[in-house]
Amino acid sequence: MSEHAAPYAVSVVVPIYNEAESLPRLYAEVTEAMAAAQVPYELILVDDGSTDESPALLRELRDGDPEHVRFIIFRRNFGQTAAMAAGFDVAQHEVIVPMDADLQNDPRDIPRLLEKINDGYDVVSGWRADRKDKFLSRRLPSRVANRLISVITGVHLHDYGCTLKAYHREVAAHMNFYGELHRFLPVLASWAGARVAEIKVNHRPREFGVSKYGMGRTLRVVLDLITIKFLLSYSTRPMQVFGKWGIGALGIGFVAGLVTLGQKIFSGQDVTDNAWLFVCMFFGLGGLQLICMGLLGEISVRTYYESQQKAIYTIREQSDGS
Ligand code: UDP
Ligand code: MG
Repeated sequence: MSEHAAPYAVSVVVPIYNEAESLPRLYAEVTEAMAAAQVPYELILVDDGSTDESPALLRELRDGDPEHVRFIIFRRNFGQTAAMAAGFDVAQHEVIVPMDADLQNDPRDIPRLLEKINDGYDVVSGWRADRKDKFLSRRLPSRVANRLISVITGVHLHDYGCTLKAYHREVAAHMNFYGELHRFLPVLASWAGARVAEIKVNHRPREFGVSKYGMGRTLRVVLDLITIKFLLSYSTRPMQVFGKWGIGALGIGFVAGLVTLGQKIFSGQDVTDNAWLFVCMFFGLGGLQLICMGLLGEISVRTYYESQQKAIYTIREQSDGS
């Protein structure tokens, strides 16, 4: 832990889904860590449609410490990424630190993240070097996913899935959150020119409640990785991707058509009985489709960039009542 106080004020953002048992200790640990580090802070607790007593507890914590605690309560369960996005949206301080509610992340790591931000990094990512989760169902798929993400995105981190990270406000402000995308935020930030660092953080076994995820998440992460890769390479020029494949397919279709005709003229081969005709039709139509998709893509990209962006959640209640 750092001895000197960081000059930055911090917004700690915690997504919460049925974590009532952990909340009192989470609050106590964050309060203690921030007091020890002498950092001005706010604790933004985002209830993601919990069905346990979490919402009531949030109001209690807020009433007990209105200076530091703020809360948001969603109308239903929108997912961890949406909960984090809501917290980022209302965060007021220069540095935003998302963190799990289940006490698996250690708030005492926050000052170390801040030190890196002080060193000039825009994003500091936590690395659960000694991760306390099951090997087969969690650590192994995560290791494979981390490698894959690293290779495909070219942003090299060991642990994308760790929620505990620190973001400088400026890079966090314009990032979009969808699906399981919160783990790709350092990647998006890095593509946007942010300086990204990684430090080892403490990880603890889950003491209360249960994990909200299983193996199914691996698939969602892979799908998001495809999206991310697409966003990286072609988001502003979809016609460049689809058009290239479309023209290739049209070319193959054209050649197959010539072969069909040639065989008819020179060796009397029946057109309807010629497999090349199918190749010609398949690639011809496929190519046209791809080119149309490219055009549609161009239109949606323009809409995407030029229209206002909407929130991906609805808020039932917010402590500062906006
Ligand atoms: N979480 C959430 N909404 C969900 C699922 C999870 O807000 O739909 C929160 C959860 O309360 C916890 C964090 O996201 O604070 C991480 O979830 P969990 O600990 O279950 O994931 P794991 O650590 O097992 O990957
Ligand atoms: Mg956890």
